[in-house]
Amino acid sequence: MRIAHVYIEHPVMELDRTFTYRCHDTNVQRGVRVQVPFGTQMLTGFVDHIEEVDDTYQNTLEYDIKDIHEIIDEEPLINEELFALGHWMSKTCIAPAISCFQVMLPAKLKPRSNRKAIVQEAWVCFVRYQEDVTKRQQEVLDEMAQRQQMLRKDFLKKYKSVGKKLIEYGCLEIIMKEKQALQQSIDIIENPFSLSKDQEDAIQKIQEGNKHEVFLLHGVTGSGKTEVFLQLAKQTIQQGKQVLLLVPEISLTPQIVKRVKERFGTAVAIYHSALNDQEKYEQYQLVKHRDVSIVVGTRSAIFMPFDQLGLIILDEEHDQSYKQDASPRYHCRDIAIFRGQYHQCKVVLASATPSLESYARAYKGVYQLVSMEHRINGHFPAVHLVEMKKAMKHGEHYLLSNTLLSAIYERLQRHEQIILLLNRRGYTPVLRCMECGYVTMCPQCDIAMSYHKTDNLLKCHTCGESKQQPIHCPSCTKQRWTHLGLGTQKLEEFVKVKFPTARVLRMDADTTAKKNAHQQILHRFQQHEADILLGTQMIAKGLDFEKVTLVGIVNGDALLNRSDYRCAELTYDLLEQACGRSGRGKYKGEVIIQAYDTTHYAITCAARHDYLSFFQQEMQYRHLASYPPYAYLASMVFIHKEDRIAMEDAFQVKEHLPVCDDYRILGPSALLKIKNEYRYRILLKGKNQSQLNEVVRNVYKVHWKDKRKSRIEVDLQPIILE
Ligand code: ADP
Ligand code: ZN
Repeated sequence: MRIAHVYIEHPVMELDRTFTYRCHDTNVQRGVRVQVPFGTQMLTGFVDHIEEVDDTYQNTLEYDIKDIHEIIDEEPLINEELFALGHWMSKTCIAPAISCFQVMLPAKLKPRSNRKAIVQEAWVCFVRYQEDVTKRQQEVLDEMAQRQQMLRKDFLKKYKSVGKKLIEYGCLEIIMKEKQALQQSIDIIENPFSLSKDQEDAIQKIQEGNKHEVFLLHGVTGSGKTEVFLQLAKQTIQQGKQVLLLVPEISLTPQIVKRVKERFGTAVAIYHSALNDQEKYEQYQLVKHRDVSIVVGTRSAIFMPFDQLGLIILDEEHDQSYKQDASPRYHCRDIAIFRGQYHQCKVVLASATPSLESYARAYKGVYQLVSMEHRINGHFPAVHLVEMKKAMKHGEHYLLSNTLLSAIYERLQRHEQIILLLNRRGYTPVLRCMECGYVTMCPQCDIAMSYHKTDNLLKCHTCGESKQQPIHCPSCTKQRWTHLGLGTQKLEEFVKVKFPTARVLRMDADTTAKKNAHQQILHRFQQHEADILLGTQMIAKGLDFEKVTLVGIVNGDALLNRSDYRCAELTYDLLEQACGRSGRGKYKGEVIIQAYDTTHYAITCAARHDYLSFFQQEMQYRHLASYPPYAYLASMVFIHKEDRIAMEDAFQVKEHLPVCDDYRILGPSALLKIKNEYRYRILLKGKNQSQLNEVVRNVYKVHWKDKRKSRIEVDLQPIILE
C-alpha cells in the first residue's frame, strides 16, 4: 500500500506532525497540495513524503487510514531545498512545519482550505486557413498565422467583428492560460561612471572570496554600496545565475529599485508586501520559470523559488524589518545564510551601521569584513550637538533650538533643502525630568523603566521589577516630569509659523496611509517642490537627495530611553543613517542633533561617524549585562484577554522550568496591553542556544497539550523587548 504523510493546516495542532493517507493515484508526489478528509471536514494539506508499506501498517495508527480526496497541484510547490529550509525553520523558530511552508508561499499558493482560483487569461490562437474568406479576413489570418497568438482583449480591440467571425469559422480559437507576465531578454546597461577605489577593492575582495562565504560590507553612508551590488549582480547574471537583493522596505527605498531597473531592465522582478495576491503570484512564477534573473524584494522575497541562486545581498542588514514578528519568527539574515550554504553562493550583508551581532561575527572572522570608509563625494557632513537642557534654560523653544532655527533659515535663503527628523518610535511611556533629564533605570537590567498610568508604577519590561513613580526627581528634587515623545504634526505647525513662506512636506504614518503616498512625497521632494521634509524615522533611511544640505534631528536621544537593551544601537543607527542624508551631492552638508543627553557614546560616536568606537563601547555593556551577542535570549509570552489567566499561566510555566545554572530566568513581567489582551513574558538568557531552544520547545508542546487558556508566543531571537 502506498501512503502519503501529510501536514494539515490546523491552528491548534501539535508541533511537527503529519497524518497518513492512502494514495491510489501515482501522481501524488512530495511537495504537492492535496485535499484530505480530516474529522468531518475536508482540509488542504501538504505531502511531506510517500512511503510503500504493508497492510499491518494500519495497526500502528490510532486512527483509520483514509484516502486522499484530491490532488491539487501537478508539480511540487516546494522543492528539496525549501523542504529542508521549512524543517529547519520549524526546529529553530519552534513553529509548526505547516506554518513554515505557508510563510514561504505567496497567498495564492498557500495550503488553505478556501482556495481561490488562479487568474486565467483568454488568448486567441491561430488554427488554420480557410478558403472563400474576404480580403480583410485573409489579412487578419495572415497576421495571426505569423503571430500565432494574441491576448483576446487586444485581439478584439484590434480586429473587432472581423476577428469574431474568424473565431466562429474555427480558423482561430480561444484558449485559457494562466496569467503570466511576459518574458523578455536581458540588456544590461553599463555603469555611467568609473568606480571609486573603495568600490573596486570591495568588488575584488568579494569576487576572490570563497563560493559560499558570508561577507559583511561595512560601507559608510554615501560610499556607493549600491554600485558594488550592481557590479556583483552583473557578474553573477553573466554566469547564468540568479541574484536576490533584499531591501528593508520598498516604499522607502524607491531609489535603489530604480537603479536596479535602469541597469537590468526587464530582467528584474520586484517582490514586496504591498503587491496584491495576483501580483505576488506572478512575480513568484517569473522566478520559478527563470524568466527573471534578479529579484529585488523585502523580507518574504527570501523564499522565492530560485534554483540557480548565485548571490544574495541583504542591504541595510541591521534593519529590524528583516525580523518576522509573527510565527514563525525567523530572521531573514539566517535564512539568507541557509540558502547561501545550500546553493554554495556568496551572501553579502551590507550596512553603514551593521548590527552588533553581524559586526561581532565579522570581528571574529566568521564573516569576512569588507570596508568602504570614504564617501564618493569625499566629505562627511559637519555634525553639531545641541544640548537641549541648556538651550531651554536660555528660553529657547523645546522643539527647535536657535541653532537649528538659524541653520534652517540659511538653507532657505540659499534654496537648498532640509530634512527634519523627529523620532516618535521612541515613544514608550517613559517619564523624564524636564529640569535635569533624569530617567529611572531598572537596577537589574540597566534599561529605562516604563510608566504604567493605571497603577502609577514604573515597570521594567525585561525582568518585571516595579517601583513607585517618585514625586520629586531623585536627582534634582524638582517636580517636573514629562512624557517623552512629541508629534510630527506639532513640529509641522511650529515650522510653518516660524517660516511662513517655506514649503513643507510631512511624512509619517498618517500622511502615508494611502498606497503610493510614500513615493509621491519623496518624488515631490526630489523635484524640489518643497524645501523642508519632516517626519519620523522613515525619512532617515536610504534616501539620496542631492540638494539636502541640512539634517536636523529634533529629539536625538529619545530612543535611548526605550525599555530595550538595544536602545543605544538603535540610537546610533538612526543618527548615523540620518547624518548620511546630508551633503550627498556636490554641496557640503551639515547635521544638527538636539538631545538632552549629548554625552552618551551612542550620540558622540555617531557625531564623529565612528562606528568602531561605538561597537567597542556597546560590546562592553552587552558583556556586562549578558545581552546578545554575548548571550542568547529566548522569549515566551502568554496572552489572554483576562489579566489573571495570562499571569497565572506565566507563573505556572516558570515554576516548572528546569532549574539550571546555564541560564537565567527573568520575569514573568507584565508587558503593555495590546488590543485589549494582557501579556506576560518570561525571558531566558543563556550561553547555549540549543539548550534554550529545548526548554522553550518543551514549554510550547506542553502548553498546547494541556489546552491552557492563554495563547503562547515564542521567539528564539527576540530583538525588541517591549
Ligand atoms: P550608499 O548606499 O553607500 O549610501 P549610494 O550607493 O547611494 O551610497 O551612492 C551614493 C551616490 O553616489 C549615488 O548618488 C550614486 O549614484 C553615486 N555614485 C556611486 N558610485 C559612484 C562613482 N563611482 N562615481 C560617481 N558617483 C557615484
Ligand atoms: Zn529589569
